[in-house]
Order: sequence, then C-alpha cells, then structure tokens
Amino acid sequence: MSKRLRASIRANNKGRSLRPKTAQTGPAPRMPDGKPDLSGIWVQGDGPPPPDPKMLPWAIELTKERSRRNWSDAPGANCLPGSIPLGFYVYPGKEGIVPIAFSRTKDMMQAYEEVTGIPFPYNKYDQTIVRNFNFGGMENITATTLADTEVFFANFDFGKATVQDLVSHELSHSWFGDMVTCKNWSELYLNEGFADFMESVAREKLYGRDSYTRKIRSDAEQFMVDDAVNKRRHGLFNRLADPSSDSLFDTTTYQKGGTVIHTLRQYIGDQAFWKGINAYLNLHKFNNVETADLRKAMEQASGKDLGWFFEQWIYGAGYPKLTVTQNWTPGTKTLRLTVTQTQQLDKITPVAFRLPMDLEIKTASGAVTKPIELKKRVEVLTFKLDGKPTELSFDPQENIPLKTVKIQPVK
Ligand SMILES: [Zn+2]
Repeated sequence: MSKRLRASIRANNKGRSLRPKTAQTGPAPRMPDGKPDLSGIWVQGDGPPPPDPKMLPWAIELTKERSRRNWSDAPGANCLPGSIPLGFYVYPGKEGIVPIAFSRTKDMMQAYEEVTGIPFPYNKYDQTIVRNFNFGGMENITATTLADTEVFFANFDFGKATVQDLVSHELSHSWFGDMVTCKNWSELYLNEGFADFMESVAREKLYGRDSYTRKIRSDAEQFMVDDAVNKRRHGLFNRLADPSSDSLFDTTTYQKGGTVIHTLRQYIGDQAFWKGINAYLNLHKFNNVETADLRKAMEQASGKDLGWFFEQWIYGAGYPKLTVTQNWTPGTKTLRLTVTQTQQLDKITPVAFRLPMDLEIKTASGAVTKPIELKKRVEVLTFKLDGKPTELSFDPQENIPLKTVKIQPVK
C-alpha cells in the first residue's frame, strides 16, 4: 500500500517533490504527429470484454496492453519461461497516461525477478486508476489500484519519478506483502519497509546506483525530520500497532524500514543479502512471516550473528546522533577524535548504536580510509597521520544513512 504521495509532498515539503527528479524518466514515446505511441496497447474491442461495471464500478476498461515475454533464453534472468499479461485500465480519453506512467512495468518486474531469483508469482498483473481513493495505491493480488490524482502527476516532469516509485512500490508487494505477508500489524515493515526499499532497487536496476542512493538518502531524511516531532515514536517492530488507526502507515514503517534494509544489505554484502532474500521468500511462499524469519534467513546466508543489528535497528527506535571533537598534536602527528552519541535517552532508543563504518580523513597529501566501529556512548579514536587533517567523512559510502554527524573544528 502506498500513502497518498502528493498529499505527503505538500504536507512535508511545501510543494516541492520529496523525491529528486530523475533525468532518466524521459517523456513518453510519441508518434510523428505528436500523439502518444500506443502501439502494443489493446483498445476496447481488441481484448476480452470489459469488466462488469457492477463488479468494478470505478474501472473503465479502455486500454489494455498485453506484454508477452519469454525470458527463458535471457542470460542470467533465472526466470521460468512463460508470459505475464500486463493490463492498464484508465478512463476514456486518458489513454496517453499509460505509456507515461506505466511503460517501465515490465522492466521493473524483470528487475525484481532477477534480484529475488523468484519469478513473478501470479498469472497476470493489472493496474487500474480509481477516483476518490484514500491511498496512493493498493496491492490487491494481480489487480493493483492506484489513485488517479497520483498517476496523472506523471504528466508533469517533476512528477514522473514519484509515479514510477509508486508503480514499482505496488508491484514489489507481489513478492513482499502478497506472496509473503506479515503475521501481525507490529511487523508491517516486512511489507511496507521492503516495498519502500524495492522502489530504490527498481531505480538502481533501471537508472543506476546514483538514483538508488538519492532515494535511500531522501527516505532517511524524511524519517529523521519526522522522528523529531513524532509523538508516537516506535521501533520498526511497532509495539504501538493499532490496526484501526492510520498511524500504522508512518515514516518509521515505510522510510526507516527501507533505509534499515539498505543498511542490512550493505553490512552483509550483496551476495549474502540477495541469497538471504531468496531463501526467506522461498521458504515462506504464500505464507506469513515474522521478524525472526527474516533474521534467520539473513544469518544463514551471511554466516553472521545479526542479533545486535535487529535489536538496535528493528526493535529499538530512533537513530544515532554523533558529535565529534578533534584534537591534533603536531609534534606526534596524532589526531584524537572523541565521538559522542547524543541521541536522547529514553526507554526505546538505544543508548549507543553499534556502527561499523569507514572514516575518510583528508590531509594536504590526500585521503586515507580507516575502518572503525563505534559501540559506546563515548568513543575515543586516535590516528597517526602525515599531516593536519583538513576534512573528515564518516561513512562516505552512506551505508548507514540514518545518522547525523556534527564535527567540531580541529583544536
Ligand atoms: Zn505499500
């Protein structure tokens, strides 16, 4: 499920898109006469009869694209041969939105099959725009519904990336949310955090790592801004979960969920991460899942004990706030750093996060990278350097985007 994106954009960012524009989302294909290229899209009378209007009062069948595919000969695709019909239902006269909003659906589906190693688990996938919808989208199995106002946002350049994220979000629920789904509302991040993360994965596969990183960074920022004012703070495992309340669908479950899954991926590495995802999905196919299932799959795939990781990032709330003071001793060319974790002390936020990361130190002669691991509320680190440091960068690869770092000038 997706929250209403445009509403949250207005509320959180005063009209600016929360997601950066991506230059890669170009205009829809056009015919020489300037009309949208609808080749390959079925028009009424070309396909099966329209749905009974009594059954689907909001769905007006007009266009339906059927995308035939057989990837059995595609190298590395790891997909079963076959075809998945893709359907797009829009209002009469609005067919032009189909190539603009939905043209990458097939590519996203292929990307998800490749990374998870699991073919799309159903026999078709339809996307239908609907009026007066309370959410941005809803991942009904094989029949996703999307708010028309959200989808038509793709008519504007600044809205194209947001709509692609919406389309990839709902599609990813076919694996995370439909094929396996959380056993209880407290672990909704297993559906929504993963769908949020998979938006970034679709970007990575379609547009490259920079687009992925921009999305992860944006998610982290949204969560951290919200965490400062959130009166119902909770961990990803949400002990306050109340299915009768909209509060389930918050930036913790979505954006923090997506960012923490990214951090897990970076910590155990791509190979182990996707191997673990494959095992997790396969083992629990068409069944319910809990946090323990995810942890077990990831521990088996990586060979690492992830108890501490899940304790601080899944069961704990908040994120680390680091303040760094620097002392430079010219005689011995020693840099002494005192790193203090200053996140608020309460019952749900870890007193000290364990943070394995790289520290990049620049001097006049160049940059050196030192692996460090912060574990305590106050940590003192010393480094011998060839000259006075000019710049420090904690976690330059952004493996742990959920953190703030304040660095005091060198003393
Ligand atoms: Zn969702």
